[in-house]
Amino acid sequence: MKIRCSSLPRIMACPASIETPEMEIDTSGDDAALGRAIHEVMAVISMTGIAPDSLENTAEKHGVSIRDLERGVGKARALWSKIAPSIEVGAVEKKMLAKFSSFDLTGHADLVGWSDGAPLILDWKTGHRESAAYYQLAGYAVLADPDIEFAGPVKIVLAHTELGIIDVREIAPDERRQLIFDVTKIINAEKRSYSPGPSCEYCPRKSECPARNEMLQSAGRDIAALAGAPETAITPARLAALWPQRCALKKAVDEYDRQCRLAVAEHGAISGPDGMELATEAGSRSTVEYRPEILEKYVADVGDVRATVSRRDIEDAVKSAAPPRQKGKMVAACFQELDAAGAIIRSEFEKLVWRKKHDGN
Ligand code: SF4
Repeated sequence: MKIRCSSLPRIMACPASIETPEMEIDTSGDDAALGRAIHEVMAVISMTGIAPDSLENTAEKHGVSIRDLERGVGKARALWSKIAPSIEVGAVEKKMLAKFSSFDLTGHADLVGWSDGAPLILDWKTGHRESAAYYQLAGYAVLADPDIEFAGPVKIVLAHTELGIIDVREIAPDERRQLIFDVTKIINAEKRSYSPGPSCEYCPRKSECPARNEMLQSAGRDIAALAGAPETAITPARLAALWPQRCALKKAVDEYDRQCRLAVAEHGAISGPDGMELATEAGSRSTVEYRPEILEKYVADVGDVRATVSRRDIEDAVKSAAPPRQKGKMVAACFQELDAAGAIIRSEFEKLVWRKKHDGN
């Protein structure tokens, strides 16, 4: 049986899902294309130490804007200049495979090498909110040292280019052994338990899985009862019982929104009951880049805004550091400075609205 490191978090959460561990992830979006282009350039830079004279060919090859690519590579190089002095590069863009008695483990490393004699894997994270699940990282650590020959921890370096953060995780020999043991145990088990939850989103079995379907049906019944049956009190216990199902429900609602958008795009505003209609309106949003050199003037600890770089987090951090009666002024000054530095990126989009039917419809 072949298992990818990226499937390990799902398999460990829901052992029954091991039966179909392989799934192609759709990485065809614009952000994914930019991420691939940045990875390609950084592979050359980290292996040779030489930056390409121009990124035009790479931008054209991946269908991304040269400006976005130069910006992304600039951020990655800033992190690389901090990482490079302490590591010895072995290989880049490396496909890895380790064979065990019951399974083969596979994975792809952006860079493998050593740091102070310890095996190391570097993973470029080029998105705004990319997370790293423990079992996936533990899987990489096993691939870096499958025979557990190295007595110390394997280092996994996560370089978050958009956030400007280098996150180093260490996976000890016992943790690597335990992972191999746990996966072997799941494979050899006579019966594997289902555990529907957030992992279902990435599971190839989700459309036909009986456990997930039962969970969705039971969630539907619970919500209908909460919404429509006055005798069914909304107790804290009932709310807590619905929590594991909310991710699957959120996905279902997102899919419903997508279908509504498609229908409105095809038919224009769609009439509903009671003189209402479903339509689209122009909306706009702005995202803020992480600029510690500006933020540290306004907040007590830039760590407070590192995790998400959301507008709300910055506002909260600035307000909590501002002198009394200066909160609004400080927030305005901070955003003015971020705006002047080009750190606020605005984008337009169409949002779905439920509104009173327009005259003439
Ligand atoms: S859909 Fe969910 S519950 Fe079913 S096998 Fe996959 S992860 Fe497990």
